Amino acid sequence: MSMTVSIYDMSLAALQIQLKAWGEPSYRAQQIWEWLYRHKVTDFNAMANLPQALRDRLAAYYQVGRLEQVTTQRSSDGQTVKRLLRLPDGQLIESVLMAYDDKRRTACISTQAGCAMGCVFCATGQMGFARHLSAGEIVEQALLFARQLESEGERLSNVVLMGMGEPLHNYDATLEAIARLNDPDGLNIGQRHITLSTVGLVPAIQRFADEKLQIGLAISLHAVTDQERSQLLPVNRRWPLAELLDAVRYYIAQTGRRVTFEWALIAGENDTVEQAQRLGELLKGLLCHVNLIPLNPTHGYDGQPSNPARVNHFQETLHGYGVSSSVRVRRGIDIQAGCGQLKADVAQSDQQ
Ligand code: SAH
Ligand code: SF4
Repeated sequence: MSMTVSIYDMSLAALQIQLKAWGEPSYRAQQIWEWLYRHKVTDFNAMANLPQALRDRLAAYYQVGRLEQVTTQRSSDGQTVKRLLRLPDGQLIESVLMAYDDKRRTACISTQAGCAMGCVFCATGQMGFARHLSAGEIVEQALLFARQLESEGERLSNVVLMGMGEPLHNYDATLEAIARLNDPDGLNIGQRHITLSTVGLVPAIQRFADEKLQIGLAISLHAVTDQERSQLLPVNRRWPLAELLDAVRYYIAQTGRRVTFEWALIAGENDTVEQAQRLGELLKGLLCHVNLIPLNPTHGYDGQPSNPARVNHFQETLHGYGVSSSVRVRRGIDIQAGCGQLKADVAQSDQQ
């Protein structure tokens, strides 16, 4: 393993300290920063306004990113690209880019290798936890897509922290990554164009609310009784629904933002009209929206997606309570890039 550090793991403040220690003028850190995050160069030698000696010194100590691209897959309609990336210690993560007709380009990125939360229907949960990603490793996933898009005359417009891992379990690195994505001198992605999805870590949601950012919050709900939710999402035993809903109300109060609830529709499990009614009762009057996602089948769970008629009925029932919802189009299913499918294939081939 290389002894050099990824420069993406340096904050601007840390970079300033390093350059000061090298006797460089104070504006150099900002110059480097803009080369990295605005121009997205991949090589210190491209930093044209730095003296050659400084470029050489940087290259001796740092690398411009350390994610190795193992494979890239494009869906048959060309609108979804999935990347498998290898971290310096050999861990594998995935990130996905989705193109929409309205010009939105959304990167779905990972915050951990594996996940400790053990949700039964999730491919990442089925693998268990390997480690947290660093802020640089989180940001670099978005940078890879942003760079690719810019070379095609386009721009990365949105980021969702919905890949592998539970972002609020890796709180500090996730918040640092969000700040970096949002930085006007860097990727310049508006807070309202960044969404964080959580399984429901209540104290972390409260802390996140206190940051008073404008980041979109998505909550993986999937069930409306504690008994049912605990079966699917073990974390519910620790922080039951009533506490979770309190934390959500607090987030809305602190930020004024509408919260999204995610509901993976599993045939015969959580897709009945009665469940939709209870969900409607629970959410009516709340500043929220429900994303209905027909389950993506995974190898470790035998549930199946609800059929379209059920999905429609569920959505209509919610509508009766004044609760808005949309059915999330499953993207990149032919390249296993759907929610909860990330890394499933690799984990499988590992077992062979
Ligand atoms: N750990 C975070 C974010 C990553 S998962 C969280 O759980 O919210 C992103 C979303 O995909 C979550 O709503 C999760 O519940 C959902 N998901 C996981 N596995 C899925 C599957 N097999 N089918 C449909 N959605 C799934
Ligand atoms: Fe982790 Fe989210 Fe998967 Fe649950 S759904 S195991 S929290 S990645």
